[in-house]
Amino acid sequence: MKLLQHLGARFGCALCFAGAALLLLWHVPNLAAAAPPADGKLRIIVFGAHPDDCEIQAGGVSALWAAQGHHVKFVSVSNGDIGHWRDAGGPLARRRTAEVEAADKLLGAVTEVLDIHDGEVLPTLENRRMLTRLIREWQADIVIGPRPNDYHPDHRYTSVLVQDAAYMVTVPFFCPDVPALQRNPVFLYSPDSFQKPNPFQADIAVSIDAVLQKKLDALAVIESQFYEGGANGSANLIPSDPEKQKERKRSIRESFARRNQSLARRFAGKLAEFYGADQAAKVQHAEAFELCEYGRQPAKEEWKRLFPFFEK
Ligand SMILES: [Zn+2]
Repeated sequence: MKLLQHLGARFGCALCFAGAALLLLWHVPNLAAAAPPADGKLRIIVFGAHPDDCEIQAGGVSALWAAQGHHVKFVSVSNGDIGHWRDAGGPLARRRTAEVEAADKLLGAVTEVLDIHDGEVLPTLENRRMLTRLIREWQADIVIGPRPNDYHPDHRYTSVLVQDAAYMVTVPFFCPDVPALQRNPVFLYSPDSFQKPNPFQADIAVSIDAVLQKKLDALAVIESQFYEGGANGSANLIPSDPEKQKERKRSIRESFARRNQSLARRFAGKLAEFYGADQAAKVQHAEAFELCEYGRQPAKEEWKRLFPFFEK
């Protein structure tokens, strides 16, 4: 709305009012996404640095939540506008936004891509306010983000921004334009393989076997990053032979499936804790999360309420 006021104040012409109306329409999905209905369902907000991070890290568990009617929102903190070997700038940001919108629709999540340049995410006060407002507007029960010792600066600073919001979401006179949360959400980290200063430790692990194909279908939509290889790709990755194209797409699906298989193996003990040994032994693909010490610290029973997937 600030943009509309700015345009109107600056030009005050009919063209601008027409443009403003179009912009307003364009923003309607985001306005609708600002607050899910108070229907007693869970509200989960996932932050990734780029348009593909949320889908890789939490695509499976989000599909499980969404299938039960819980409300999931994926936020990409950057617009991804340098994440390709051939394309860049506005057209790439638009393409990547369209990709995650289509992918998230398959998973049942709402999408928001913030207009911050890729490679330039910083833990500024302005961004702290923005993430605080997003978590409050979603009235989140669960917030998921990356760990602060990831290799990519955007991932690290997205993590710091989420951590910085973890307490501030409860403080009424910080961003008083959006009411503070009465109850601090549970903040979770998504996994990575970095060992220093401390390796990822799972506090919760969930079987995604039931939704694996849906997750792989959603990731397949994000062609700029996986099929075309993103920032470190090249024209050589894309075969001209249609049979080889199919083969490449199949191998991408397999590599993502293997990633979730390795999480299931790595956190088999945690799966057994939540599913029982017999059922856990059958799990092939998993997603896992680590509890951040800054938000609410759930007891065992609350974990099962927040992740309502363990009862048969
Ligand atoms: Zn990323």
